[in-house]
Amino acid sequence: MSTVAVAQKDEELNVLVSTQEMIQIALNKLGYGQEVYELLKEPMRTLTVRFPVRMDDGSVQVFTGYRAQHNNAVGPTKGGIRFHPDVTEDEVKALSIWMSIKCGIAGLPYGGGKGGVICDPRSMSFPEQERLARAYVRAISQIVGPTKDIPAPDVMTNSQVMAWMMDEYSQIREFDSPNFITGKPIALGGSLGRDSSTARGVAICIREAARVKGITLEGARVVVQGFGNAGSYLAKFMHDAGAKVIGISDAYGAIHDENGLDIDSLLERRDSFGTVTKLFKNTITNKELLELDCDILVPAAIENQITKENANDIKAKIIVEAANGPTTMEATKILTEKGVLLIPDVLGNSGGVIVSYFEWVQNNQGYYWTEAEVEERLEALMVRSFETVLHTAQARNTDMRLAAYMVGIKRMAEAVELRGWV
Ligand code: NAD
Repeated sequence: MSTVAVAQKDEELNVLVSTQEMIQIALNKLGYGQEVYELLKEPMRTLTVRFPVRMDDGSVQVFTGYRAQHNNAVGPTKGGIRFHPDVTEDEVKALSIWMSIKCGIAGLPYGGGKGGVICDPRSMSFPEQERLARAYVRAISQIVGPTKDIPAPDVMTNSQVMAWMMDEYSQIREFDSPNFITGKPIALGGSLGRDSSTARGVAICIREAARVKGITLEGARVVVQGFGNAGSYLAKFMHDAGAKVIGISDAYGAIHDENGLDIDSLLERRDSFGTVTKLFKNTITNKELLELDCDILVPAAIENQITKENANDIKAKIIVEAANGPTTMEATKILTEKGVLLIPDVLGNSGGVIVSYFEWVQNNQGYYWTEAEVEERLEALMVRSFETVLHTAQARNTDMRLAAYMVGIKRMAEAVELRGWV
C-alpha cells in the first residue's frame, strides 16, 4: 500500500475523527452553529491515570487507564469500563461521545462517559484482576460518583468486576454506594434483566428492522460476530425466535453451519470471555464469517470490522450493530447504497445503557422491579427510539446512522444553550 493509501486507511479507522465528522454533519443539519460543535466535538474531561498493581509472582506492573466524560449539561455522565490491550485515549473519547448520543436517543437524563484500562485480563489471575479493578477505581475516584459519572461493564469486564469496583468506591466514601456503578450482581443491587439487556435491545431492533424490510424472522439466516455478553445472548434470542443462527465467532475464529448451529450447546461450552471456537477443528476466519450469505448480520465484537475493503462483499440485508463502532462511515455509505438497512450502534446496543439507567433508578429508590417490569419498560423505550430514528431518517432523507446522531445530539445541544454555555 502507498503512503497515501495507508494514511487514508488510518483516517477511516480513527473512530474519534469519524465521530467528530458525524457530529458536525448532524449539528449542521439541525441548524446549530460552530460554537456548539467546538464544545461537543471532544469530551469536557479526559483523565489519564497510571497505577501500580502487585502481580501474583510478587512483581509490580504499572497500568495505564482513562476515564472520559463527554458532557454533563443533561445530567451526570454514564458509560462502561473496558479492559483490553488495544484501549487508546482516542477510542475512549469516541466511546464517551457515542454514549451521549445513545442517552440522547433514549431520552435518559445522562451525558456520555467511558473508561478503559490497557491490559489483557485473559492472561491475569482472578486476584490480579481484582487488584487492577480496585486500583483503577482509586485512581479515578475523585471524578466519578452516583451524581457525577456512573460506570458500567464493557468489553472484558463483568458483574464481578463491577462488584469489586462498587466495594472499593464504597470503602473510599465510607458509605454503601450501589448507585455508583451499574451492571452489578443482583445480590449487590443489580437489576434483573441487566445481563441480557444489550442483546434484548438488539433483538427488538432486529424485529423492527425485519418488519421494515418485509423479512420474516422465522427461518431467517442470522450471523453473529462475537460470542461474549452481547453476542451470545443475542444468538440465543434469535435461536429462540425461530431464526437460524448459521455463524458465530470469537477472537480466535468462526464456526459456520448452514443448517443452524446448536446455540444452547455452544453457550454451555464457551468461557467467561466469550471464547468457544478453540474447541472446533473446522473453523473459518472472522472475515469469511462477515461475508457469509445471510439475512441478518450482527457485529457484536469490536470496532472497524466492516470497512470500505469488505463492505461490497457483505451479503446481509439487515445489519444491526451490537458492538460499538463495527462499521466505518465509508462502509456505511457503501452498504446504504446497496440497500442494506443498517441499524447503528448508538440505537442498536442502547438496551444496555437503558437497563443500566433502570438499575441506577432502582438503587436511588431502594425499590426493586420484577424482570417483567424491566423488560416491559425496555421494550417501550427501544421501540420509541427505533421509530423516532426511522421517522427522522425518512423525513430528512438520511441513513439511519446520521438520523440517530441528529436525534441523539439534539437534546445535548439544547441543554448547553439553555445553560448559557454557548
Ligand atoms: P465481551 O468481552 O463479553 O465479548 C466480546 C466478544 O468478541 C468475545 O466473544 C471475543 O472473543 C470477541 N472478540 C474479541 N476480539 C475479537 C476480534 N478481533 N475479532 C472477532 N471477535 C473478537 O464483550 P461484550 O460486552 O459482549 O461487548 C461486545 C461489543 O458490544 C463491544 O463493542 C461493546 O462495546 C458493545 N456493547 C456491549 C454492551 C454490554 O452491555 N455488554 C453494551 C453496549 C455495547
